[in-house]
Amino acid sequence: MATDCIFCRIVAGEIPSKRVYEDDHAIAFLDLDPFKTGHTLVVSRTHATDALEDAEVLASIAPAITATGKLLVERLGASGLNVLSNVGEDAGQSVFHLHVHLVPRYADDAGMGALLTRTASGDLDEVHARITA
Ligand code: AMP
Ligand code: ZN
Repeated sequence: MATDCIFCRIVAGEIPSKRVYEDDHAIAFLDLDPFKTGHTLVVSRTHATDALEDAEVLASIAPAITATGKLLVERLGASGLNVLSNVGEDAGQSVFHLHVHLVPRYADDAGMGALLTRTASGDLDEVHARITA
């Protein structure tokens, strides 16, 4: 574990997070600053800098990505989902521990162009309760 890495500390339980899913290889928790309602991060338990560093670590979180994506769509009634991972500062990466953004999408706010406009509604506790109830 990298002690100066915020996501390693979340994985270790040293920093709180609103978890929605976990397995042996990954944890998934709500993004603190969501673009859309239910915006979630799937984070590897093993530290890797980004999605290109280690193919095995990337592959190991695929089941958690699938399971969490389905959970979000089902529980939140989303009609779509963006699955994306930023690699490098110029791509917008700000936390240098492998993570995949799962951004639920809704028919009234559709399309790739609208992805980065923040329209999330409901506070994180309320959204967390809807996903985990
Ligand atoms: P990226 O910019 O692709 O590296 O994504 C990092 C994401 O982590 C951003 O969307 C942040 O809002 C989110 N984030 C940073 N710190 C936390 C935290 N403590 N809990 C939940 N999400 C966080
Ligand atoms: Zn880390």
